[in-house]
Amino acid sequence: VVPNALGGTNNPLYDLYRAQGGPDVPCVLRPTFYAEGQALPDAEQGPFQDTATAVGAAIATAGIAAQLGAPDSSVADATALLADQPWYTMTTAFLALALDAPVDRLSTLDVWNDLQFAINPDGSPTDKVNPSGMGNFAAQFAEGLDIRLGTPVTALDLTAADQITVMTDQGPLTARAVIVTAPMTVLAAGKITFTPDLPTAYQQAFADLPFGLVDKLGIAFSSDIFCATPANTVITRRLDADLSAFAMALARLADQPMMNLFFADDLARELEAGGEAAQEAFAREFLTDTYGADAAKAIERTIIHPWGTDPWAMGSYSAARVGKVGARATLAQSIDNRLYFAGEAVSTNAHSSLHGAFLTGQSAARQIADRYATTLH
Ligand SMILES: Cc1cc2nc3c(=O)[nH]c(=O)nc-3n(C[C@H](O)[C@H](O)[C@H](O)COP(=O)(O)OP(=O)(O)OC[C@H]3O[C@@H](n4cnc5c(N)ncnc54)[C@H](O)[C@@H]3O)c2cc1C
Repeated sequence: VVPNALGGTNNPLYDLYRAQGGPDVPCVLRPTFYAEGQALPDAEQGPFQDTATAVGAAIATAGIAAQLGAPDSSVADATALLADQPWYTMTTAFLALALDAPVDRLSTLDVWNDLQFAINPDGSPTDKVNPSGMGNFAAQFAEGLDIRLGTPVTALDLTAADQITVMTDQGPLTARAVIVTAPMTVLAAGKITFTPDLPTAYQQAFADLPFGLVDKLGIAFSSDIFCATPANTVITRRLDADLSAFAMALARLADQPMMNLFFADDLARELEAGGEAAQEAFAREFLTDTYGADAAKAIERTIIHPWGTDPWAMGSYSAARVGKVGARATLAQSIDNRLYFAGEAVSTNAHSSLHGAFLTGQSAARQIADRYATTLH
């Protein structure tokens, strides 16, 4: 019931989805202000849109400079000249929610490496919604494979020259090569031990790619509260709020009476801790501000995955520390052509995304297949 937005261009998952007959459903990620079920007049949207455009341009300028060798900076520093503009606070909250770290901790280079592919030269929206749900779409990759869920790996033993022993709570496995796709948080916390210890550069890379927290509350309504709102419209309240109050929503999701409500950082931690009652109370507050009190009463049910308290996720996705973008490339190098890392955090240009996870996994698997092809056949 909770479809997901496919992000960016250069996205092989999107190409596959389209090749399989999925409809092209564009979605503009930058939110529109709503109140009483209506988009506010252009005059009230304009100042925010102007500031968001200026902040985007400042990130592009500093990001391109960093790609060319200038020192990396935080997004807060790269956009400091705009800090006294109206709507700067909300613009940076929006960026922090999308990119999973407050702007003083976001690396401009890391952001731009990804964002440069999320801009169409003709200005058309690059984000897309998969109306039948990304979970359903991703499930096809598991077909025919021997996958064990609920089987935590506790240790990898690389002391033998010709095999790696993978310790799980269901017993050991052996393999000639292993791809580790556990989240950076789990690796940094030492929940999987490596014998012998990993080289320091890899351990440092886990620490340099911390996760923030962004959560998504799926809401189903008992009636169509959305009136004239076009399908898959990203909305927010007209409130120049920081992350402690900022939330945005994908309204009339998949053209159904459904909504995804996103919140981040301390607000997300607070709402995870408060459980369903706190989440629904916050949703009612947001809906009252954007669609009116009757809409808030039409909530039928909600669903959330609490990424912060999930012990196997410990957060949402990675944001490189300022000046530490190289950690992603470090992890993309195998150790002795037999221990590989993959997952969104390993991708330099598509981190924080499903297609980054897909591409890095595919790359590691190809390297293993190439190396062992002779012996496999
Ligand atoms: C709220 C939210 C919205 C998002 N929206 C989008 C979007 O619109 N578009 C997009 O492209 N991306 C989106 N993403 C990001 C995307 O979901 C991730 O980047 C992607 O799922 C990362 O894949 P991964 O394989 O690297 O890691 P994960 O999907 O985190 O997979 C790692 C797996 O390892 C397991 N694990 C952990 N420890 C162990 C262990 N010791 N042993 C065995 N298994 C272990 C975990 O349980 C988990 O299943 C969103 C993420 C969030 C949180």
